[in-house]
Amino acid sequence: MTLDELTAAIGGTIIRPGDSEWEAARRFHSGIGEPAVVIRASSVDDVRGALRYAAAERLDVMVRSGGHSAWGQVPGGVTIDISALDDVSIDGTRVSVGGGAQWGAIARTLGAHGLGLSSGDTASVGVGGLTLGGGIGWMVRAWGLASDQLVGAQLVTARGDVVEVSASSHPDLFWALRGGGGNFGVVTRFDFEAHPLDGVVHAVFGIDGDAAPALRVLADLMKTAPRELTVTYMDVPPMDPNAPAGAMISAVWIGTDEEAARRALAPLRDAPGIIEREIGVQQYPDILLQTPEFDPEHPMPGFVGGNTLLRELGDDPIDRLVAFRAQNPASVVLLRSLGGAYGDVAQDDSPFPARDATWFAMAGAFDIPGMLDDAGRAAATAAWDAIEALGAGVYGNFTTSTDPSMAERMYPPATMARLSAIKREWDPGNVFCRNHNVRPV
Ligand SMILES: Cc1cc2nc3c(=O)[nH]c(=O)nc-3n(C[C@H](O)[C@H](O)[C@H](O)COP(=O)(O)OP(=O)(O)OC[C@H]3O[C@@H](n4cnc5c(N)ncnc54)[C@H](O)[C@@H]3O)c2cc1C
Repeated sequence: MTLDELTAAIGGTIIRPGDSEWEAARRFHSGIGEPAVVIRASSVDDVRGALRYAAAERLDVMVRSGGHSAWGQVPGGVTIDISALDDVSIDGTRVSVGGGAQWGAIARTLGAHGLGLSSGDTASVGVGGLTLGGGIGWMVRAWGLASDQLVGAQLVTARGDVVEVSASSHPDLFWALRGGGGNFGVVTRFDFEAHPLDGVVHAVFGIDGDAAPALRVLADLMKTAPRELTVTYMDVPPMDPNAPAGAMISAVWIGTDEEAARRALAPLRDAPGIIEREIGVQQYPDILLQTPEFDPEHPMPGFVGGNTLLRELGDDPIDRLVAFRAQNPASVVLLRSLGGAYGDVAQDDSPFPARDATWFAMAGAFDIPGMLDDAGRAAATAAWDAIEALGAGVYGNFTTSTDPSMAERMYPPATMARLSAIKREWDPGNVFCRNHNVRPV
């Protein structure tokens, strides 16, 4: 099939170098891709046509939904942009979402129906990449990962078949879609079970001085906190004039019971250095973050560090994370509480690692020329390695690494063996390899 034949056959748009939309079409959240062509699919049949074209021309394929991953590059290949597949339909609490939708729009549509899904913290992140990799969001302790809310999917396979996937129809494939990434086909529709949600209590606290004492209080508090409460800690340098720099803790309580949220957070409000900035009822879509478009003049620098799932947030990881941030002026440290519903899912029920983790931790020093020399890079690497050694697994969606060996680090051997067997059945030629790749061997 030639590109001209494909152009005639599909309802979507084909964008080539030189076209007026080319620059925008090949841009993703953190960079600019160099594909030979971008195919903007407008239907399931368009996705099938795009795959047929790529196979006929022996071109590499990259599936793009929200475009927030580090996987925007497919040099000389085909970007299949499915962001136009963003329909939402609601039947009671069953919600079907197009494979290219973004979480902010979904949250708004569901909000109008008094419903919610736990997604991530950012409006423009895609349902596709986030869900297939897991998805740690504001309701993770009450409702689990984004992928834990998945009950079905429509998948276009490498052979171009359209398969309706559920736990009863294709148990192995369904298992793989809940954390195994975009390895098994193009998901053109996700079916979720949503939850009643009339609002959230959102609280933000600053930290004055050493963050470690406040983090100890937070870690202690979260051991017994109701699962309505999820918290994050973030310490960032000034990067974006609209985003506050410095150490802060944000908390979300599901529902509008502000008194209950205040009670649950009381020990934190009294902790050393804590400054209460805001607390009040909000609509969930309003607390999702907005991110600026990629700016080629100011590309994101590289990142020395990583992420890990911690079974316990004890003194050692707290002290090491705080020290990491202090030793690297241009660095970021992030903690997110887990446990609750996240831990209710048995380890074997999905490929997602470390269901016994109670915290997610991430730290990275920005590799900015003039700020990080060889010695600083080596020190940051060693400091991070020591933190990661305390953890129980790596969360793929938060790695910026496109190193093929990353998947081996994300999945324990037995999980990887099961994923590989499923990959062999559904994508034996490894068409879907622009991801944390599970090889079909
Ligand atoms: C600003 C920002 C905030 C973030 N916040 C969170 C957060 O709060 N919680 C969290 O867990 N993660 C978060 N992430 C990480 C995010 O989950 C990953 O980057 C994720 O891959 C983004 O998905 P996407 O669809 O936007 O990306 P894309 O780059 O479009 O896709 C990512 C990968 O998934 C595959 N893929 C995407 N859609 C489909 C589909 N429909 N079918 C088959 N394969 C598909 C792609 O091929 C690619 O390999 C954040 C990332 C950024 C940049």
